[in-house]
Amino acid sequence: MSWEDNVRRVIPYVPGEQPKVCTDLIKLNTNEFPYPPSPKVTECLKKIQYEDFRLYPAPDVAPLRDAIASHYGVLSDEVFVGVGSDDVISMAFLTFFNSDKPVIFPDITYSFYDVWCNVYRIPFVKKPLNADFRMIKSDYLTENGGIVVANPNAPTGISEMEDVDFIEDIVRQNPDSVVIVDEAYVDFGGVSALPLIKKYDNVLVIRTFSKSRAFAGIRIGYAFGSPKLIKYMNDVKYSINSYTMNRPAIELGVAAISDSEYFEKTVGKIISTREWTKVELKKRGFRVTDSKANFVFAAPSKVSAKELFEELKKRNIYVRFWDKDRLRDYLRITIGTENEMKSLMKAVDEILQGQPESR
Ligand code: PMP
Repeated sequence: MSWEDNVRRVIPYVPGEQPKVCTDLIKLNTNEFPYPPSPKVTECLKKIQYEDFRLYPAPDVAPLRDAIASHYGVLSDEVFVGVGSDDVISMAFLTFFNSDKPVIFPDITYSFYDVWCNVYRIPFVKKPLNADFRMIKSDYLTENGGIVVANPNAPTGISEMEDVDFIEDIVRQNPDSVVIVDEAYVDFGGVSALPLIKKYDNVLVIRTFSKSRAFAGIRIGYAFGSPKLIKYMNDVKYSINSYTMNRPAIELGVAAISDSEYFEKTVGKIISTREWTKVELKKRGFRVTDSKANFVFAAPSKVSAKELFEELKKRNIYVRFWDKDRLRDYLRITIGTENEMKSLMKAVDEILQGQPESR
């Protein structure tokens, strides 16, 4: 017997590579925003009171929670704030998935869900997406201990809420489970499940500042749900760490959400660059999903995805590739600035030159 027999063993989540930033690096591998945060954030940063760092932050994150609530027209007790949406989703799994019945989510989705289930010892089943990477609704109407839907999904970018009733049917027909809707990418053109929180007390909608508000490095995520759901999440949070959010993050978050004009302008640029990227990739023979996120999911036809991934990396362009069933034909490419995407196309052309028409 050794102490190692008592270790909580897990196979950890592997985040995308974070190469050392240098001037000629084009980083399209972790869905970060290519533009800086709002100028209001810069202003706020200049005014931050360093002397206050000696004081603990608001444990209920009230200034930011209230700013988010008023921005989205919900009540403060319908909002939970955490350290990036990873923190919020993890807290939600721990709070709501406490049954012997399995939690259900798709086979192709954010790969962190399996990891949280494993670390918290939550049973789960993965239901295969169909050939078009879409969920099959009946798979989510069987007995379960909870449901997780990423909408738009990752890494496909596909939004299930274009059929607005899709997620509502799942929520309504599972009154004994909590349904988590992970909306990390919804600001880029997906349809949100937010209105459902007023109709159903078992749906939790989770979002992030990491993508559309250029805050991946600050770490702010949030959730909307019935006051009852939010209260249960806070009970668990306060039982682990009352002060998850640091003072500057709370202040900067309030500044970021106050600038709707900058948000609309920069998110709009990403959406138009994404649509341009889809067209350009299709011209070059790629199969491209109809992504509503800040990335595209694209399968080259003239070289393998792996080869292209490696060749791009040699040229200092980082994209994401998974050597896994159903994913290995594709690359997930984050939408960068217009110039970055033009450089990507130039590199793709260079790599494809001289390749036969199809594999
Ligand atoms: N959900 C999905 C679907 C994601 O792709 C990510 C980004 N890795 C997250 C949640 C977590 O993002 P963050 O913790 O930065 O809010």
